[in-house]
Formats: sequence, C-alpha cells, structure tokens
Amino acid sequence: MKNIVYRSTRGAEREVPASVAILKGLADDGGLFVPQQLPVLDKSLEQLAIMNYQETAYEVMKLFFSDFTEEELKYCISHAYDSKFDTEAIAPLVKVDGAWHLELFHGATIAFKDMALSILPYLMTTAAKKNHVENEIVILTATSGDTGKAALAGFADVEHTRIIVFYPKDGVSPIQKKQMVTQKGANTLVVGVDGNFDDCQTGVKKIFGDKELGKSIAEKGFQFSSANSINIGRLVPQVVYYVYAYGQMLKNGELAPGERINVVVPTGNFGNILAAFYAKGIGLPIGRLICASNENKVLYDFLNTGAYDRNREFILTSSPSMDILISSNLERLIFQIAGEDADQTRELMEALSTDGRYEITASMKEKLSCFYGDFASEQETKTSIHGLYEKTGYVMDTHTAVARQVYEKYKEQTKDQTKTVIASTASPYKFTRSVMTAIDPAFDKKDDFALVDELNKLSKVRIPEAIEEIRTAPELHKKTCAVDQMEQVVKDFLR
Ligand SMILES: *Cc1c(COP(=O)(O)O)cnc(C)c1O
Repeated sequence: MKNIVYRSTRGAEREVPASVAILKGLADDGGLFVPQQLPVLDKSLEQLAIMNYQETAYEVMKLFFSDFTEEELKYCISHAYDSKFDTEAIAPLVKVDGAWHLELFHGATIAFKDMALSILPYLMTTAAKKNHVENEIVILTATSGDTGKAALAGFADVEHTRIIVFYPKDGVSPIQKKQMVTQKGANTLVVGVDGNFDDCQTGVKKIFGDKELGKSIAEKGFQFSSANSINIGRLVPQVVYYVYAYGQMLKNGELAPGERINVVVPTGNFGNILAAFYAKGIGLPIGRLICASNENKVLYDFLNTGAYDRNREFILTSSPSMDILISSNLERLIFQIAGEDADQTRELMEALSTDGRYEITASMKEKLSCFYGDFASEQETKTSIHGLYEKTGYVMDTHTAVARQVYEKYKEQTKDQTKTVIASTASPYKFTRSVMTAIDPAFDKKDDFALVDELNKLSKVRIPEAIEEIRTAPELHKKTCAVDQMEQVVKDFLR
C-alpha cells in the first residue's frame, strides 16, 4: 500500500507521517497538514456497499493513516464506533421527501462531531505510543458548542491526556452549555470566555503559537495538541461516512453503479465539507458539493466572488455551530487550488489575519467549480423546519434545516435532479427551543426540558441518553474568563 505522508500548507514541514500530524494538530509554521498525495480507494464501490460502518472506516483510514498497523486501526475503530452510538448503523441514511438525510447525530453528544471525536483519542494515544511520547497530552479546544462536548466525552478520563475547552459564554445553546459544564472527569476543564467563537479560536491559536509557553509546559511533562477540526485525525474519520452513505444507497438499489450523487453540508469551519471533497478525491462519485451557510454567509460570498472577507457583523443565529467568520479548514482547499503553492497560501492567510480579507485569482476560482454556495436566513431556516415537519412528520435540527433549505434553493435554481445526501449534523433534541418554536411559536413559553418532552410526543423519536443524563446532572464547571486571560487559565490548570 502507498505510504501517505503529510506536509504543511505553509511550506515549512514535509514528509510528516500521519501519526505525527495527528499528535501535532497544527504544523509548526501555523499551517495545516495535508496529504502530499491523495490516496485512491482500493476497493470497488460494490465491495464497499456490503461493508458495515466499521469495515468502511478501516478501508478509508488505512489509506490516509498508512503508518498505523491494521491491528492499531482496528483497535481504534472498534473502540470508537461501539455502543456509544444508539444504532448499529452508526450513521443511518433516511430518505425524507426526495433527499437522503445522513444522520450523523447518533453518538454520545448527539451531533456530528462525535463521528470524529469518538475516535480521535484512540488515534492520538496510539500515535503517542508509536512515537514514544512521554509527555501528557493537553488537548486545547475552542468550541462553538458541539466540538467542546464531543471532545470532552472522547477524552474524559483517558490516561495521559488532559482537556481544556473554551466556549463563548453567551454564544452556545442552553443545552450545549449544560452538556459541557456538567462534564465529569478529573482531567477536564471547561471555561466560558467573554467573547464570541472567533475570539476563542484566536486565543487558542495564540497559545499554540507561544513557543515560550510550549517550552515551559514541556518542562512540567506536558505538550499541547488540538482536537479542533484542523486536526487531520478529525478530518479523515469524516471521509468515512460519505463513502458509507454511497454504499448504502448502492446496496438499497437507489443508485446505478457509478451514478453520481450531490452532497449538501451545513458549513462552519469547513471541515465536514472538506471531508466530502476528499471523499470525491479518493474516487467516490460525487458531483456537486453544496456548501450551506447561515446568515454568517462569508463562504457563500467567497464561492460567488472569490473574495474572502471576514470584516462584517458577527450574527448570533439559531444554528450556533455555524456562527463562524473564519473557516479554518478552507486553508487546505486554498492550498490545493493554488496548485500546492505554500508561499501563496501563506500570503493569503497572512492577509486574512492582518486585513481580515483576501482574494483568490481567477484561475484558482475556476478550480472551485464543483462547489456551490448558498445560505438560509433565520426565517427560511424556521420555515424549512416547519414545512418538512408538516409535510412528512420528520423533525430536523436548525443546522440540518439550513442545509435542507439551501438544497431546495439549489434545485430551484439549477433544475439539477441528481440524488442528494444532506449531512444532518445534529439531533433536534440538541436545539429544542429553536426547533419547537419553528414548529409552533407558542412552545416558547415552556422550559427547556418540558420542550424535550413535547418534542418526544410530536416526533415519536426516543429521547437520547445524552439529554436524559443532563436533566439532573450538577454543574461542575463554573469558571469564566476574559479573552486576554485564556493563557493564564491554561497555566493555572497545568501547575
Ligand atoms: C460543527 C458543526 C457544523 C459545521 O461543521 P464544520 O465542519 O465546522 O463546517 C454544522 N452543524 C453542526 C451541528 C455542528 O456541530
């Protein structure tokens, strides 16, 4: 099998084995690790169609993580994708009103980040062993809501690791917040930051970039790593479910062999849709990659004009996990469409950090033709939830609703009839208030857990364990801090 190694999008590092890229998260030069060459699926689509989720995961991960042994990968996969998921399918595909909803929310925290974050701790501790790392690994994470809890659930009480999560104090849903602040595990720390998600992310990046701090914690036996979606150990597990979804459609006779599908992804940090792009790159027949934004439509503007501009109002929406103005993973795509030119990538990213904007060349923009961007307003998102529920009884969360709405717009505008998979990224139980008031504004008078019971009555979908367990759980994490105190908080925790 081909040995796949990684390089930084900013040029300073090359020939890095997958396990090292996973341990580091971010490259030393501030760039992101990308495969020096994309692998190609070595099983036919028909062979993949009869595999279960775990088998599919192995087929995909062995291509990208070529320095892991078969035994190591199978160990990681079997421990990640087990009864933590409430369905054996792991990622079930449900046909609703002419589109296929790929339900990525059946894991421990009922959002799609579980798909990658339930395996990342295993990949990381295995990578540490392979590379004879003695230090304790400190996971440092900024979250817009879902990553935080999924990372906490993955890393809590994992030996030789600690995890620190920063979230925007007033920028996550009440249920997201409750999920995080009730987290058990002596190795966990959860902190509310007086700022928005971008402030949290910038703060974390700054801590990562602080060489002094890195040295001083190394003396105490620690090293930082990232569980954010920039880690290649998160990206690759997300490639799996697109391959799996295609296989399911093929198996069920819903596709002719080789027939192309489109994929719609509700997008924030650009990780999930980039995984779909990689799935296309390794040989999955995907036509269009439809990038759905909420009112923070920086990606819609970018795909349409070629100018990425974060200088705009940050809008708090009902799909908070997509309230992002700096989509970190886009750097990987920029690198690719720049013909793997690290200097050009670095210049653009520097422009983004100094001026808040950059513009790609016409020839780069041409290479984006398989992407299509659109957005859904808050009102459209509500109407989408309401409309699909009235028509079919299926209840979507707000993020999925953004995708569904963009899908409907896409069909209307292009008349494209290609069969389409909608990445359904969260359970409606995670955003109960927004979902229920979209169905009927009168629900707004009820408290959050009453709404959970109402949703159960109306959708007839069982209340997930993740919700049941926080009803009564005590709040264990009460710390908050200002943006400029984040580094001190980290130092205190590692004292
Ligand atoms: C994180 C998240 C997204 C955005 O995914 P990206 O990979 O950051 O683009 C969409 N929906 C939900 C529910 C999420 O948690």
